[in-house]
Amino acid sequence: LLICDEIATGFGRTGKLFACEHADISPDIMCLGKALTGGYMTLAATLCSEDVAQGVCQDEPGVFMHGPTFMGNALACAVANASLSIIQKGDWQQQVANIEQQLQEELTRCVTLEAVADVRVLGAIGVVETKTIVDVARLQKEFVKQGVWIRPFGKLVYIMPPYIITQGQLRQLTASIYEVLNAS
Ligand SMILES: *Cc1c(COP(=O)(O)O)cnc(C)c1O
Repeated sequence: LLICDEIATGFGRTGKLFACEHADISPDIMCLGKALTGGYMTLAATLCSEDVAQGVCQDEPGVFMHGPTFMGNALACAVANASLSIIQKGDWQQQVANIEQQLQEELTRCVTLEAVADVRVLGAIGVVETKTIVDVARLQKEFVKQGVWIRPFGKLVYIMPPYIITQGQLRQLTASIYEVLNAS
């Protein structure tokens, strides 16, 4: 079985509704979370093909029988429905394309910095990879001084901004990344 974890990449983040569309594949099982509610409520979902669903459900409840206390939480599902109807309007396609273009224009100059190994952009995801693992605690303080909240991870200084971010706000994020990495 092919399982795609689209928890971070789902709902338009990479420029396609789901990242697996870039590879023109369709998984048997797909994991969703985060943007399912626009990040406003805790909710996750596991989707599966009819075939897999039959395998799980057709006989007496077995090992996959599991009912978490807050499963199908009404408030979380209402938030997901509201978020999905915004996604369905389709504005995200232009928003993500605009963010992608701005990230490319503004993050690319980071490759000239001593500390930087690579810059990668896909959809509304911007990543600056450093040559060595960053001191997260120190960098985070520097970012806060710049008025932004960016939490690096290993060698990756990354941003995944909301699709409604303004050009000015995004410019503040990309400028902060440049300034902080330039000084380190
Ligand atoms: C956040 C994340 C998870 C964890 O999701 P939870 O809903 O917090 O369990 C798993 N995979 C990826 C790719 C993620 O980004």
